[in-house]
Amino acid sequence: MNRWPSDIAFSQCVRERADLSCERCERSYRHDGANMMGLHCSHLFGRRRASVRWDPDNAVAHCFSCHQYLGENPRIFSRWITEYLGSERADELEFRANEILKITERDREDIAAHYRREHRRMLALRAQGTIGRIEFEGWVTYLDPLVQVPKQFSQIDSDGNFSQADSGGMVEALDD
Ligand SMILES: [Zn+2]
Repeated sequence: MNRWPSDIAFSQCVRERADLSCERCERSYRHDGANMMGLHCSHLFGRRRASVRWDPDNAVAHCFSCHQYLGENPRIFSRWITEYLGSERADELEFRANEILKITERDREDIAAHYRREHRRMLALRAQGTIGRIEFEGWVTYLDPLVQVPKQFSQIDSDGNFSQADSGGMVEALDD
């Protein structure tokens, strides 16, 4: 799968947010520059889903071992996500993940510029001595408030539940 400049900038934000440490085992990569490649930007729903590919709630920093372990144990991963986000935010994320969103090349340029800006802002805070977690702003997907309604109502049954056909999302974690 393509790795665009927007993905790289987003990944830098996700890892910096976590203070360059694994969000499961807390191993720090801050003073381990040569090994930075070992800290992954792990997507909860795979990058194939454009609607959440650059969503701050949809990615975490995981070391290679945790990334692999959770990728192989989707039920444990799913539980970890719910604990990490809280069940309400996890539900909202799942809702967004099931939206169909068309991203243009122009959007991707905007996304890359947005996350490069956010990353610079976070680095400036670090330079001023900020330690620990730093939140960052997500790229605004919907500029037109009229388009905020999810387009895939067909995936929600009459009880308001998502159809099971798409429940494999969490398993795509090793996607990246
Ligand atoms: Zn770890």
